[in-house]
Amino acid sequence: MIVMGIESSCDETGVGIVEWNGTTRTCKQLADEVASSVDQHARFGGVVPEVASRAHLEAIVPTMRRALDAAGIAKPDALAVTIGPGLAGALLVGVAAAKAYAAAWDVPFYAVNHLGGHVAVDTLEHGPMPPCVALLVSGGHTHLLHVHDLAEPIVELGSTVDDAAGEAFDKVARLLGLGFPGGPALDVAAQEGNPKAIAFPRGMTGPRDGRYDFSFSGLKTAVARYVESKERAGEPLSIPDIAASFQEAVADVLTMKAVRAATDLGVDTLVLGGGATANSRIRSMAEERCADAGLTLRIPKPRLCTDNGVMIASLGAHLIAGGAQPSLLTVASDPGLSVATSQVTV
Ligand code: ATP
Ligand code: MG
Ligand code: FE
Repeated sequence: MIVMGIESSCDETGVGIVEWNGTTRTCKQLADEVASSVDQHARFGGVVPEVASRAHLEAIVPTMRRALDAAGIAKPDALAVTIGPGLAGALLVGVAAAKAYAAAWDVPFYAVNHLGGHVAVDTLEHGPMPPCVALLVSGGHTHLLHVHDLAEPIVELGSTVDDAAGEAFDKVARLLGLGFPGGPALDVAAQEGNPKAIAFPRGMTGPRDGRYDFSFSGLKTAVARYVESKERAGEPLSIPDIAASFQEAVADVLTMKAVRAATDLGVDTLVLGGGATANSRIRSMAEERCADAGLTLRIPKPRLCTDNGVMIASLGAHLIAGGAQPSLLTVASDPGLSVATSQVTV
């Protein structure tokens, strides 16, 4: 069975094609085409929804053609598309395209959850997914999930109450004059800094705070206050020290709560996903803490951590293999779709 996945929830237009192997219960990647509008958002310092929608509209058909060419097929056996969560106008483009192609090709259509895709994609490299805790960190999301089986609804353990982790990286990077998207630049600057130089706060770690929830807006404000106070006092600023100390605080809270969740639930696997998973300190701290707690850590390769079509095709394949029925072509995209809904069928 060959499944095509279409992704357009944020600023990446992704079309991926996978082949499901029922014996190994994993997928083989046949195509992974992504067109990103990230450069068009740089001068605004953040993703502009209207700009993203327009870019999806321009990119969707050429990206689709490239994926079919790469896989060497005329059409897939089934089509999966991100129905939510994401930007309303951006989602509409991928969903409309998926419906049109499904109708024209007469293939079944599956409307799936973007967040589940970030977890499912790891099976391409690392094999079938055991029950696990997943930590998703990107520009738009920070979620801690309990995944029992990829074909079943996912349980949300916690999420951010304000900024997403990647968003916090981007905002702090901007404050430090590092450009957009600033996450990667901040990571580079942090390599030269001392992570213990400044004791920035660890949000939501008090006894009365949500056990698995996150907050990064206080941390972002603390960095801004620190910069202001230094400037007022006329003291020199060490960008590398600020970057390293901020990064340390984010990685500390994320990995602490993720490992705690896995230990609490008695699962032995932690999966990371989302673009901010590229962060070197989040990775190294997750490795250290998983090793200490006896957990297996699974991280997809960077290309598959950011938004792409392969993750949607992979989740679609798992749902189909699990006996899911196709979605109706009247299904509407849902920008606020809960992670508990793996697939929308009405
Ligand atoms: P979504 O939230 O819908 O999954 P997105 O486009 O907001 O999508 P991604 O494309 O998955 O997110 O990831 C981009 C985010 O990851 C940006 O916020 C970026 O700054 C951050 N990021 C990328 N590399 C690093 C890094 N090395 N360190 C910290 N943050 C990073
Ligand atoms: Mg993106
Ligand atoms: Fe994503």
